[in-house]
Amino acid sequence: MKALRLMKWKSEAEIVELPKPTPAPGQLVIKIGGAGACHLDLDLMKDFGDGQLSPLPAMAWKPPFTLGHENAGWIDLIGAGVSRFREGDPVAVYGSWGCGKCGKCKAGFETYCDNPAKAPVPGGGGGLGLDGGMAEYMLVPFERLLLDLPDGLKPIDAAPLTDAALTPYHAIKRSWAKLTPDAFIVIIGVGGLGHMAVQIAKVTTGATIIAIDSRNEALELATSLGANYTFKVGDEIKSKVKDLTSGHGAEVVLDFVGNKQTMALGASICRTLGDFTIVGIAGEVLPFSFFSVPYKTSLQTTYWGSRVELAEVLDLAAHHLISSKISKFKLADAPQVYLDLAAGKIEGRAVIVP
Ligand SMILES: [Zn+2]
Ligand SMILES: [Zn+2]
Repeated sequence: MKALRLMKWKSEAEIVELPKPTPAPGQLVIKIGGAGACHLDLDLMKDFGDGQLSPLPAMAWKPPFTLGHENAGWIDLIGAGVSRFREGDPVAVYGSWGCGKCGKCKAGFETYCDNPAKAPVPGGGGGLGLDGGMAEYMLVPFERLLLDLPDGLKPIDAAPLTDAALTPYHAIKRSWAKLTPDAFIVIIGVGGLGHMAVQIAKVTTGATIIAIDSRNEALELATSLGANYTFKVGDEIKSKVKDLTSGHGAEVVLDFVGNKQTMALGASICRTLGDFTIVGIAGEVLPFSFFSVPYKTSLQTTYWGSRVELAEVLDLAAHHLISSKISKFKLADAPQVYLDLAAGKIEGRAVIVP
């Protein structure tokens, strides 16, 4: 089978020929119906390495591996001892693979596994140190990592939800208590994750939504998905947000970029007692001190989401309450897709269908 593979750090991924995987006892092979092309893959190609590039951490895993950590498809081969699935069942793959045994993993938060050394790869998963879904078939090492797709949801539509919707869902859910109908939520960066964040904020909270991006098309998309206000970078955003919020700032700010400018902006428009959550992994640094954010503003990061939250996200999509705006590409197009993604030319999410 063909696969898009990262052969070494600091290189473009290549399409190579690999044998189809076979499942050992307890494992499954799925036929990929869609694999989302994520900004993180660009970081894997360009920025990650063996710890040289501070502040990005050194990973406990390294290439070669097949890219693609946002995957859905159909059960193809079933290893001995697996009883929950039948061939052809449509499934989504939960992407962060922990030890499966610690308290965090049992609660479904494999992103925060307490025993990463006992995971298939520490802090990774399919497409992150192990072979992912940018290939015709993908090996999934444990059945707990597969979620049945609800009726009416196709693998191609489900694939990007496993990260691009799960990650903002987790970040927004964490701040639900503050997102009352009189509250404001600011979403910085309306890309693959941000355009889902707008929808998730709309359907799960009563808050007024402000979306910020540097691209007109992204702001138009945000409006069409339910943003109440959109501001373009460079538009005196701070004073506009203060005006809208009677001078207080927003209860919740989500930064899907995470560079110096976006973090400084986020800290300047978040209100006292607010939540400022950095989701984007541009990896730059925000100064933090007693006076750098309003009193009692919580500054936090989140990483991905839980298995339970993924089931909730899939249900939201099956009920047509959220949907990823997708463009479909063949595996052969994947190298060009990543060039376009790097150039900011992809609207919503590109999904590779091998
Ligand atoms: Zn991703
Ligand atoms: Zn664990």
